[in-house]
Amino acid sequence: MLAPHAEVHVFDAMPSLARKFLLAGRGGLNITHGEEFASFINRFGDAREKLRPALEAFTPQQVRDWAAGLGIETFEGSSHRIFPRQMKASPLLRAWIQRLGRAGVSFHMKHKWRGWSDDGGLVFETPEGERRFRAAATVLALGGASWPRLGSDGGWVPLLAEKGIRINELKPANCGFDVTWSAHLKARFAGAPVKSVALEFGGTRIKGDFIVTETGIEGGAVYALSAALRDEIASNGKALLTVDLAPDRDEARLVHDLERPQGKSSMANFLRKVAGIEGAKAALLREAGPDLPWDPTQLMKRIKHLELTLTAPRPIAEAISSAGGVALDALGTDYVTSIPGVFAAGEMLDWEAPTGGYLLTACLATGRAAGLGAVNYLARTR
Ligand SMILES: Cc1cc2nc3c(=O)[nH]c(=O)nc-3n(C[C@H](O)[C@H](O)[C@H](O)COP(=O)(O)OP(=O)(O)OC[C@H]3O[C@@H](n4cnc5c(N)ncnc54)[C@H](O)[C@@H]3O)c2cc1C
Repeated sequence: MLAPHAEVHVFDAMPSLARKFLLAGRGGLNITHGEEFASFINRFGDAREKLRPALEAFTPQQVRDWAAGLGIETFEGSSHRIFPRQMKASPLLRAWIQRLGRAGVSFHMKHKWRGWSDDGGLVFETPEGERRFRAAATVLALGGASWPRLGSDGGWVPLLAEKGIRINELKPANCGFDVTWSAHLKARFAGAPVKSVALEFGGTRIKGDFIVTETGIEGGAVYALSAALRDEIASNGKALLTVDLAPDRDEARLVHDLERPQGKSSMANFLRKVAGIEGAKAALLREAGPDLPWDPTQLMKRIKHLELTLTAPRPIAEAISSAGGVALDALGTDYVTSIPGVFAAGEMLDWEAPTGGYLLTACLATGRAAGLGAVNYLARTR
């Protein structure tokens, strides 16, 4: 696809490439998702239509084919999430970098991009001092602002904003939240998993697990609701999350179970025996109000409609991903910015999606679209 005379140079601020990609590999590298494309595209919410052409041109199946072309077989797990068989990122990254190297791509590490010089050159800070580089076309893929120690620190925001590129505030996505816990809950249960619950907010119910942390809650089921919870806190200063501690029993069945004679059991033993509520689940129940009612219907309501008050999302540095970034409607269909010859892709663009392989797929698809945009731009302008 590249014109034979096009040189490709990759610059990165860090000493080695793709540190966040490697971190994602620690969780097995959930690289894409196997659900029907119609559902898949809906995970991108408001950004769906803008991302559609790029995602239709590089579908989840094509992500799998691309990995297979690099010698990495993938498999679909029980929740339709797709992973490399080895559940690691490093073999895929190694094969990818080797292929790019064979194709003539040059890599320049420890090159922190600082903006443009007056004559339009790219300016980098390097251990050897400032370096300038003239590029005929530039693809920016600078990431969001989560886990900044891996390289993506959002330092590009003022550089693009001062060039008139519209940027929406970077915000945490797929993140945990603050809850004001009692000293007892923090001391005894920080770090404890709360398994097999259902979380409900804004009419969406997610079954899964979460973790009690020193500062609140985090984990898969929380991330799935995090965009709506974050926006609610921004508008109203807090969000009320409903936790169903016994999602596999409906209300009537749970009331029936709670009607069993208590005998000489304490409340704690009774709840453990008849409703399977113990450990962190029992502590959460008591946290909501110390005096648990013995009345089965009232007790059922506490168990199935436990309310947690979330006061703030955790800082973006701790989030799995970022929302906000370069406004999609400020980009051309080929991902060109308002600066001719400068394209942008990946998490630095203003879209968000849940965990499940959607993030990497959209980064790859928009990266491909922006790269093709640059190739076409070079063909037009040279
Ligand atoms: C713990 C964790 C687990 C994850 N797991 C998954 C998963 O399983 N599946 C999934 O789909 N997604 C996952 N993600 C999200 C996914 O890793 C990111 O969405 C993806 O890596 C973003 O790719 P990107 O290329 O846009 O940005 P990044 O991967 O952040 O890369 C941006 C690069 O730009 C460089 N850079 C930034 N600023 C400058 C500058 N001024 N000069 C030079 N270089 C600069 C950085 O050093 C970095 O190398 C996970 C994220 C985290 C934190």
